[in-house]
Formats: sequence, structure tokens, C-alpha cells
Amino acid sequence: MRRKIQPKPEPVIPPQMLEQAKQSISTDRLKKSVLCSVCGAETTSGSAEPLCWVCRRLKVSAWREIEQQMPAQE
Ligand SMILES: [Zn+2]
Repeated sequence: MRRKIQPKPEPVIPPQMLEQAKQSISTDRLKKSVLCSVCGAETTSGSAEPLCWVCRRLKVSAWREIEQQMPAQE
């Protein structure tokens, strides 16, 4: 009985490609990414507030709760 020797695929990434990938990532972060002011998640912010969509929804729902809890007296 002979065992078949399976060729192990070794990921060979040239260091130049790694450097390019790192640079592209860092430049992308410098250009685009905005961190959510609440949870720190990356978000593409088109509005004035740096909020990811999750925190934006949470905030909106929180506002609604506050409005419901506040007595309508003034
Ligand atoms: Zn967030």
C-alpha cells in the first residue's frame, strides 16, 4: 500500500503585493471611513453626525421612546 502524497497548497504572497494591499487599505481609511461616534464602527457618513446605520436606528427609536414617555405638558 502506498499513500498518496497530497500536494499542500502553500499561499505565496510576494511582499510587494502585501505592501500595496496595506497602502491601499490605509489610504482608503484616510479618505473615506468615518467612525461611528457611538460604537466606533466604520461607516460611510453622508450626514452631519458620524453614526453607523445601527446606532442611527437606535437613536431614532430612543427618541421615539423619550417622546412617548415625556408628558405633554409645558
Ligand atoms: Zn454605531
